[in-house]
Amino acid sequence: MKVRYFDHAATTPVSSTVLEEMLPYFQLQYGNASSMYSIGRQAKKALEKSRRMVSNSIGAKPKEIYFTSCGSESDNLAIKGIAYANMEKGNHIITSKIEHPAVLNTCKTLEKNGFEVTYLNVDKNGLVDINQLINSIRPSTILISVMFANNEIGTIQPIEMIGKIAKEHNILFHTDGVQAIGNVRIDVEKLNIDSLSMSGHKFYGPKGVGALYIKEGIKFKKIQDGGHQENDMRAGTENVAGIVGLGKAIEEIYEKYEKYNKKLISLRELYIKKIEESNLEAKLNGDRDKRLPGNANFSFRGVNAQELLLALDEKGICASAGSACSTGNPTPSHVLIAIGLEPNLANGTLRVTFGENNTNEDVEFLVDNLCEIIPKIQKK
Ligand code: PLP
Repeated sequence: MKVRYFDHAATTPVSSTVLEEMLPYFQLQYGNASSMYSIGRQAKKALEKSRRMVSNSIGAKPKEIYFTSCGSESDNLAIKGIAYANMEKGNHIITSKIEHPAVLNTCKTLEKNGFEVTYLNVDKNGLVDINQLINSIRPSTILISVMFANNEIGTIQPIEMIGKIAKEHNILFHTDGVQAIGNVRIDVEKLNIDSLSMSGHKFYGPKGVGALYIKEGIKFKKIQDGGHQENDMRAGTENVAGIVGLGKAIEEIYEKYEKYNKKLISLRELYIKKIEESNLEAKLNGDRDKRLPGNANFSFRGVNAQELLLALDEKGICASAGSACSTGNPTPSHVLIAIGLEPNLANGTLRVTFGENNTNEDVEFLVDNLCEIIPKIQKK
């Protein structure tokens, strides 16, 4: 059976050119980047090349990039690292209610360790409440962490405005850019971003490798004890092949940005149009315009998303539930709760995220199957 993949926000396949670039670092140039001899130095050189590729892609300097093991680690290092290093200035952090658990749970841990956290509300489209942000600022606020784009509903936040507010109040600004990299052009200087996390597997790079941008001069603490890698800010032998892959992937995705972006928007719009023209009772979640190019998140009334996903899987279709239903938990996700979706809709949420290899024919196949399956499983 042909597999049709519509879950690019979960992960993407590694591009062939990225894989090709990575392969020598498994068996030929397998040196440890901290070793003095030639294959070690070659590995180090590869790391530095990748660092330049990452920094060039977001308007940063190479020394502002730290490699990590994933997006979650980057979020942890940024938020805990900045919080603990700036404790003497204050203990207050502002974030949003719709962050990824990598940010939300990091904030919860900090709350247990003497920090105070404000979780901003979002409107029905998932945009953070800017007035609440301004009113939440205290003399003790040291960090604002608001995600660039949401992984479930695709809403893109007004990052430039948040960066400006943070700068005016002399507060550091971190953004979880895991879903945004490759899908949005990012210039950290222009947007006043002090810290940004990313993850290789969301833009056709490998899994298990991430990067963190932290603006030069910002005080942050390492959170993992060990050796002195990554300018003594992130202990652990670097995943050389993974880092090479991440560097190549970010360069590649921004090289073809216009074309890629256009393609994803066209697939997304075709899908939205077809769903809206169908007889299905569906509601599009997230902002209609300020959304990730490949994201379309619909809630279908009276549908159990888990049942829907299983039926789609039988047809070779991979998609995702927009709620924790996928794990057998009937409670809607924190994101759907935050946008105020009623339970009968929230439980039937399907996140479709398009990618490079999807075609119009895939969209038609998906919609045809939804139109066939949903009336059968819908509870009135
Ligand atoms: N932040 C966001 C917005 C994400 O979507 C994800 C992964 O889905 C992460 C962080 C975590 O990234 P990783 O899977 O690399 O740990």
